[in-house]
Amino acid sequence: MIDVTKTEGFLLGTLILFIILVVRYFVFGAVLHWVFFAGKTSRWASRKVYSRDYEKKQFRSEVAWSMASSLIFAISGAVLGWQYLKGYTLIYLDWGLHGWWYLPVSLVLVMVLHEAYYYLLHRWMHIPSVYRIVHKVHHDSHVTSPWTAFSFHPLEAVIQSLFLPLVLMIVPMHAVVLLVLLMIMTVSGFINHLGYEVYPEGFDKHPLGKWLIGATHHARHHKQFRYNFGLYFTFLDRAFHTEAPSGK
Ligand SMILES: [Zn+2]
Ligand SMILES: [Zn+2]
Repeated sequence: MIDVTKTEGFLLGTLILFIILVVRYFVFGAVLHWVFFAGKTSRWASRKVYSRDYEKKQFRSEVAWSMASSLIFAISGAVLGWQYLKGYTLIYLDWGLHGWWYLPVSLVLVMVLHEAYYYLLHRWMHIPSVYRIVHKVHHDSHVTSPWTAFSFHPLEAVIQSLFLPLVLMIVPMHAVVLLVLLMIMTVSGFINHLGYEVYPEGFDKHPLGKWLIGATHHARHHKQFRYNFGLYFTFLDRAFHTEAPSGK
């Protein structure tokens, strides 16, 4: 195992994580681009959530910002590794340490905390003076695509990357559950920015689906700015009356 408590180990760990994140971005982005945007799009045409088309000129800047975000997320991952080796996190490896029931509970709990963290900061990032510096880059994509999923200003990427190192100091989480969470974070980032609704028709009215955020919900945020600040779930947008009226 790489000793990230030493400078060389920290740099090597950051480099490896950066490569993993970049490969993840391009593999997910390319596959989704190929399925939804290239060639036979007619199958998905009825699921398109924007009336306008994604502009090719967005691609270069979205990739550039996403590379900067990936570097910041890689540093954050190395910091988390450093915290773990120093005993500053509650990440654990013994499956039975907190009981089997705790494994799914910890996943949902951390996702709910992440929702609250993101919702609050997202509302703050929409204050005009903050927005111009921190959040405008993400909203430069008026029409989103898989390539928008990690297109953030470095300051926003730093704000986002602080969540896991902080929450894992107070909430115990098994290392494998953490990997599942990272996968959910990745997939939801791509699904929300895809520009095509992948959930079944009427899913947003379904008793389960109405609590989950997808491309339609997040597209309304990119179109209208003042609604739909949530990350995974809709409950905070509902509680604080920031959910866009349906149909808009
Ligand atoms: Zn926003
Ligand atoms: Zn977005």
